[in-house]
Amino acid sequence: MEQLVECKDKIHSCSKCGLCQSVCPVYQVTGNDCTVSRGQFIMLRGLIKGDLKMSSKINRYLDLCLKCGACTRFCPSGIDVVDIIVKAKSAYFKLHPEERFVSFLLRTFVFGLGVKLTGVFSKNIKSKKFDKKVVYFGGCGAELKGNSSVVSILNSCGIEVVTPEFECCGIPFLMRGDFESFNKYLRNFVEKLKQTGISEIVTTCASCEKTLKDYSKWSDDGFLKEIKVRNIFEYIRENNLQPELDKHRKVTFHKPCNINNFEDIEWVLNNTKNLEYIQMNGFDKCCGLNGISKVSEYKIMSKIFKNKRNDILSSGAKTVLTSCLGCEIALNLYSFGKYRVYDFADFLGKYAKKN
Ligand code: SF4
Ligand code: SF4
Repeated sequence: MEQLVECKDKIHSCSKCGLCQSVCPVYQVTGNDCTVSRGQFIMLRGLIKGDLKMSSKINRYLDLCLKCGACTRFCPSGIDVVDIIVKAKSAYFKLHPEERFVSFLLRTFVFGLGVKLTGVFSKNIKSKKFDKKVVYFGGCGAELKGNSSVVSILNSCGIEVVTPEFECCGIPFLMRGDFESFNKYLRNFVEKLKQTGISEIVTTCASCEKTLKDYSKWSDDGFLKEIKVRNIFEYIRENNLQPELDKHRKVTFHKPCNINNFEDIEWVLNNTKNLEYIQMNGFDKCCGLNGISKVSEYKIMSKIFKNKRNDILSSGAKTVLTSCLGCEIALNLYSFGKYRVYDFADFLGKYAKKN
């Protein structure tokens, strides 16, 4: 509870203006104030005061939050809602041994054995040598995606790519409020990064990007203040690369919640030859990824998925580009074969004109 109590002043700074309701994808389908930051803060105040006890009912509301951060971007009081929600999740986590067991299963089988056996983490990528070097963090599934494309983009900018054998960035554990596991992944990352002697990191996954950028919030290791995390679009624009596709292709783009430089993405889309970019309605609305595992909330989550799907279909594009493995998986899952979703770098690797 201590970490939640430390947020007391931030929680009290909520003016209850209700502006968060206008952007929260969950509130928009439930109409229930307990599913948006304003209502959640009222519950959390009750918890801190001792008027309420942490319960599975409160945890259900914390879990319904997609951690998309849309409310934070809109909040006149500038409250970092996701940080507060994960701290509240941590209070629940500590009180419930079954939550530990789920984390143990995730650590051991999904992000341990599963990752090792499938070899989905990027490693030993062949890169040309240059004086300027960056570390590539592709995240889980990087090996399944456009690693070689990332390397060729960066090599054509005169940058060498170094790829240590990283593990998960830890975001699945942070979102569960399991700070102990999250910190293990954080320390593992820092140790491997220090060994490279490089402090600039490139990612192709918006969720990993945000997690790495936020590491210094959760750890007092001074080295974290020195690291610079950037996404692939920044390099493409900065170096005025104007890739060309093999033929005319019409696409739309889903902006992951954790991307803060959409202007770079738009520049890249508009400067890729043979690519026709159509901006869909709600291009920046959450895909609902965090709701995918919530089978018990299927009714609520399916409305969120359906809204996104309708926006994609109305754009008329059969190809959706994005830059987050989670969004890619979620959007592909409910496409029902009507469109195909690609990571942008992966898409370039497949369809860029070969010289
Ligand atoms: S927008 Fe911010 S200040 Fe307004 S009700 Fe929501 S959380 Fe509170
Ligand atoms: S983080 Fe997203 S889902 Fe959660 S309360 Fe804010 S807008 Fe709603």
